[in-house]
Amino acid sequence: MSAFNVAKFGGTSVANFEAMSRCAEIIANNPQTKLVVSSACSGVTNILVELANGVKDESQRAQLINKLRTIHTDIMSQLNDISSIKQRVEALIDKVATLSEAASIATSAKLTDHLVACGERMSTHILTRLMQERGINAVRFDIRGVLKTDSKYGKAEPNLNATKQLATERLVPLCQQHVVVTQGFIGSDADNETTTLGRGGSDYSAALIAEAVGAAGLEIWTDVPGIYTTDPRIAPNARPIPEISFSEASEMANFGAKILHPSTLLPALRHQIPVFVGSSKAPQEGGTWVRQSVESAPLFRALALRNNQTMVTLRNPKMFQAYGFLADVFTVLAEHKISVDLVTTSEVSVSLTLDQTDTCGGAPELPAQAQKELEQLCTVEVKQGLSLVALIGNNMSETKGSAAEVFDTLDAFNIRMICYGASPHNLCFLLDEDEAKQAVKALHEELFE
Ligand code: ADP
Ligand code: ASP
Ligand code: MG
Repeated sequence: MSAFNVAKFGGTSVANFEAMSRCAEIIANNPQTKLVVSSACSGVTNILVELANGVKDESQRAQLINKLRTIHTDIMSQLNDISSIKQRVEALIDKVATLSEAASIATSAKLTDHLVACGERMSTHILTRLMQERGINAVRFDIRGVLKTDSKYGKAEPNLNATKQLATERLVPLCQQHVVVTQGFIGSDADNETTTLGRGGSDYSAALIAEAVGAAGLEIWTDVPGIYTTDPRIAPNARPIPEISFSEASEMANFGAKILHPSTLLPALRHQIPVFVGSSKAPQEGGTWVRQSVESAPLFRALALRNNQTMVTLRNPKMFQAYGFLADVFTVLAEHKISVDLVTTSEVSVSLTLDQTDTCGGAPELPAQAQKELEQLCTVEVKQGLSLVALIGNNMSETKGSAAEVFDTLDAFNIRMICYGASPHNLCFLLDEDEAKQAVKALHEELFE
């Protein structure tokens, strides 16, 4: 069988009956699309996360579950024949109710994953049925039988070999006969327990599945016609980028551009799978192609913003002209499996930011025991409520005047930490969360408009 496309539809793309109908049209219009990866309907994962975090009040819990029921029954009520899916969706709502009650007594990462996975499990039942009613030969497939991960609930890492083998055995043959509809975001560990890849993980799922089946292309259908110079919700004059390199788009995703989950492009890059990002609301508007090599490499390509940053500043006057301090600090961090994102150092201090969190969200915390151990080496200051702004481009650190242009624009802002020079492709800085959008707007105006 010749290679086919994998198409991923995000939450807003499957938010309601009309949105799902547009997805079906996009799929029907491209016979090369044989595998569809769907998110939960818009808003559903947020409700499930809230329930997983433990809602003690019974009536409040019932209200949230009712909201979930309404989202799904509203779509089903517009289908012609739901006899094949009605009971399955209802069973999942019942499961959500039971698991939410358990979470109201004691929460756990494993329970959270079981609970939040229900969103994608429900949406795919409905999307499959809707596609069948549009004459598409669609079947639903439970991706937990293929996408194998470790047991790091809430932010599981894929087992690429196992996933590839199972995809070849179970998924590829099915795609020869049908258009297969499956879930983003979820997987299963070696004990077949449900896991998730972290918030926004459907993009990553789609890329992993595309890699595992050897897809010809990966389509990411969302609510904007492509990757923009920055989030169009922040800067209304942001414009779509027709073509962008894997490395530039990866940097954007890594630094928080919500349009793509940070890991999405790794599998695509490994297998040189071209990625298209477009709007399911307006497919005719085109979108962005992400490829290995592209024609232009502008000095400034895009701006990304990531909220919920935690900065840890470690000070030790004895560090001046001494050695071993950084090694000691990073040993403590490594022992506690704390992943560090950005680092800057001075003679007597080091500031670092902690890596992003899992499905439960929120700012990353420095574990109390790690803090205690660090305090034996130095003073420790933890600051939250910060945002990271990243300017992504090409050869920035080798181009005269580029930093001056950026920092002149930022004159009025209180910059907390700057990382510049380590990578020629980005310049990033931390500032207070309430100033961050303004800073992105100002920089966008100056550098892109
Ligand atoms: P989906 O549910 O389809 O995965 P997301 O909400 O996760 O969609 O991502 C799409 C959103 O990402 C857009 O609506 C936009 O607000 C935001 N976004 C952030 N940065 C960018 C960017 N550089 N280009 C386009 N959209 C961006
Ligand atoms: N439904 C999940 C979330 O909202 C995964 C995704 O949509 O990508 O985070
Ligand atoms: Mg997303």
